[in-house]
Amino acid sequence: MTNAITHAMACRRCLYTRRHPLGLVIDDEGICSGCRIHEEKDRLDWTAREARLRQLVAPYRSPGGGAYDCIVPVSGGADSYYVVHWVKERLGLNPLLVHYNTYYNTALGIRNLANLRIRFDCDILVQNVNPESVRRITRATLRQFGSVYWHCLAGQTVFPVQTAVRYRIPLIIWGAHQGLEQVGMFSHEHEVEMSRRYRRDHDLMGREADDLLTLFDTLTEDDIWQYRYPGDDDLDAVGVRGIYLGNFVRWDPKAQHEAMMARHAYGTAPFARTFDCYDHVDSYVYMDIHDQLKLYKHGYSRVTDHACREIRHGRLTREQGLALVRRHEQAPLQHLDLFCHWLGVDARALQFILDQHRSPDHWQQPEPGRWIFSGPSTREPATASDAGVDAGFRANDTLERGGSRAYIVVGKGYP
Ligand SMILES: [Zn+2]
Repeated sequence: MTNAITHAMACRRCLYTRRHPLGLVIDDEGICSGCRIHEEKDRLDWTAREARLRQLVAPYRSPGGGAYDCIVPVSGGADSYYVVHWVKERLGLNPLLVHYNTYYNTALGIRNLANLRIRFDCDILVQNVNPESVRRITRATLRQFGSVYWHCLAGQTVFPVQTAVRYRIPLIIWGAHQGLEQVGMFSHEHEVEMSRRYRRDHDLMGREADDLLTLFDTLTEDDIWQYRYPGDDDLDAVGVRGIYLGNFVRWDPKAQHEAMMARHAYGTAPFARTFDCYDHVDSYVYMDIHDQLKLYKHGYSRVTDHACREIRHGRLTREQGLALVRRHEQAPLQHLDLFCHWLGVDARALQFILDQHRSPDHWQQPEPGRWIFSGPSTREPATASDAGVDAGFRANDTLERGGSRAYIVVGKGYP
């Protein structure tokens, strides 16, 4: 019996399994490391942790003002509003905001980003990498490892660090640490900081910019140099460090987004593939083709991440979370035409490439063109009460495209 529990594949509390790509362990009671670390949120003294944060940032405050105190990476979605709210309104620091243009922008995301810098009265730097290079990289990473998001993750994690070196602003303040939040890779008390190694191993699926050069003969130095992490000498000369706000502030994205919607007009929009309409509203790709690839490769998609988080916060039961996963997990994509237009491929050729990345652990093909899915969500059958489950997320806007058939042009994005 003990043996069976110890070797259980799935957590008894949330919906994750041992196959989580970030790595996850399940203890003798059948509870996963992510759920265990989440328990710290109700156990730690957050007043004391906030005091530690204030102490930590104090030396970085520029004496007499007139300079930036820190860098905050931002987008038109995710937790940018909440992080800037903390940095500017609660810690009283003067941040330089930095933004990597993914080119997958929604109108709502562009509006959110404009509203962010107006509301908080902050300066912002935007990185627009040459769109031809971005397309070449995306064609290569899609073919080779089924990712249309490598350039986004690489750009979003490197541009703030390059800016820290260039402008000699040592402190970078990020939101939550994904490895801690999802799988409990670290305790909050470890106060883990940004590292080159975590970025390469987890954010970038083991491939740094220079690895792309050896993998693909279609890419050159001109395509990848903007994604290269600064050298240790440069980082040490400035004393660059990146801290995570989630180690010092009790992290609860639903409550945080709702506060920012009410206080700072953060715009949110419903998605077909998840119930969380607060996150990722800046991208036509993240909750669309990127989410589909996640389901192909790993047997679960973003809605499972959202359900696990809500279960841990005690707002959904495990059964309710599973009902929501079943409702959203295989919803059809809504913006694939935009991606095809941008990359210059037709939908059938793209589907052929996508199918190459379906994991045989989760996808069977009984005949050409027909696929049968089996994943963690299919092991327990739907119940009569599934339809009534409501996670309580309410959008205040939409991702309506009007007549638009191409991504919205910002910066160097002219088609
Ligand atoms: Zn769990």
